[in-house]
Amino acid sequence: MRKEKVHVVSLGCPKNLVDSEVITATLIKDGLEITPHPEEADIIIINTCAFILPAKEESIDEIFRMAQMKKNGRCGRLIVAGCLPQRYGSALAREIPEVDLFIGTGEIPRVAELVRGLEKGDSHEDRVCIGDPTFLMRSYHPRVISTPAHMSYLKVSEGCSNRCSYCVIPAIRGRFRSRETDDVIAEAESLAGRGVKEVIITAQDTTSYGRDLKSGVTLATLLKGIVSIEGIKWIRLLYTYPMNITGELLEIVAKEEKICNYLDIPVQHIDDEILTAMKRRGDGSRIRETLARTRKIVPGVAIRTSLIVGFPGETPKRFKNLLEFVQETRFDHLGVFKYSQEEGTEAAQLPRQVSEGVKESRRNTIMEEQSLVSYEINQTLIGSEEEILIEGESEISEYDYVGRAQRQAPDIDGVTYVKSRGRSPGDIITCRITGCEEYDLYAEEL
Ligand code: SF4
Repeated sequence: MRKEKVHVVSLGCPKNLVDSEVITATLIKDGLEITPHPEEADIIIINTCAFILPAKEESIDEIFRMAQMKKNGRCGRLIVAGCLPQRYGSALAREIPEVDLFIGTGEIPRVAELVRGLEKGDSHEDRVCIGDPTFLMRSYHPRVISTPAHMSYLKVSEGCSNRCSYCVIPAIRGRFRSRETDDVIAEAESLAGRGVKEVIITAQDTTSYGRDLKSGVTLATLLKGIVSIEGIKWIRLLYTYPMNITGELLEIVAKEEKICNYLDIPVQHIDDEILTAMKRRGDGSRIRETLARTRKIVPGVAIRTSLIVGFPGETPKRFKNLLEFVQETRFDHLGVFKYSQEEGTEAAQLPRQVSEGVKESRRNTIMEEQSLVSYEINQTLIGSEEEILIEGESEISEYDYVGRAQRQAPDIDGVTYVKSRGRSPGDIITCRITGCEEYDLYAEEL
């Protein structure tokens, strides 16, 4: 019997990528074969994202692209999973008859049973199988690693209870829930056993880890456990909530060599009126305090942040406050989102919505400023020594390899081109920084 082939498309954030890896491994375990080529697939599954308009558009475009495969190719069943069906359910099903089944974020562990059901002609009301978003990944769930073999995301919790006024994630992913520490450690050990060197801690809010567990564990105590795992060389922290950053957490980041000198701290804005309207905890001065304390306790730490421009009520004066904050704070890395008016959120009802044109120009203004800041910071690194994780061969002929420094998270922070010999992906080598661009660095092995 020819094994049926499945093609899995993963869209959105690292948390969704982990879900896609569980979906893929669950289908392999159920006897299906994974193919990277959609035109060869009997079944195509798209794990979608839906948190803001551009992400929704990307998901819809991908669904229609794969629907063509179904029309012209071998694909007999097209399945859409994840945040888009969780958010829009039957309404989506009515709009896109080409899709055979819509699976919510809570149904991921059932994917094999649901795919087999389709084969047998099982029908679901409106072709949707969407329940409460209660799924929480465990170490016993099968998982393939779709990232390069030397790195992997480690999802330590699911959902969010912060309730920012512009955000749909709590509605799509449910309330905040931590994985048990033993379970996270067990998975980290299995990742190390599979050759993973860099573990990237991810969640909607990693700093809330443990709040819902009676054991009194925190992100800092969890890190102590992961630090002791043989084989793991780097531990990177993403999605920390500024007001949840504790002295205990900063101390362990400063003390433990394995924990990258890097923190992703999405602050979203700095103007007090806007932060209040966003329902973000902490005002501008507390955010500045947190950043100053982080830099004091963790010398040389690289800080990434995310900002939203064009939030309702963002007057030119309030935008100027944000721009000055970017100029004075000099973040190592920064991403800017244009505010997206998402139905079902409180912020969508707010007066004084900002025009798309103004949002666009404000985003460009911040990114222009940041590219100058980033270049100046990179220039200060020339001559310094950095550990570089080799990721592959360089596409720039003068350099042998491409890799990342501890100050560079994958896909979002630039890379480092390295002159060296006889190295393989996953090797961590000590280099001297010899040059830079706005976002990328050049180096030679010492
Ligand atoms: S912290 Fe705020 S922005 Fe982030 S997922 Fe939670 S509600 Fe959304």
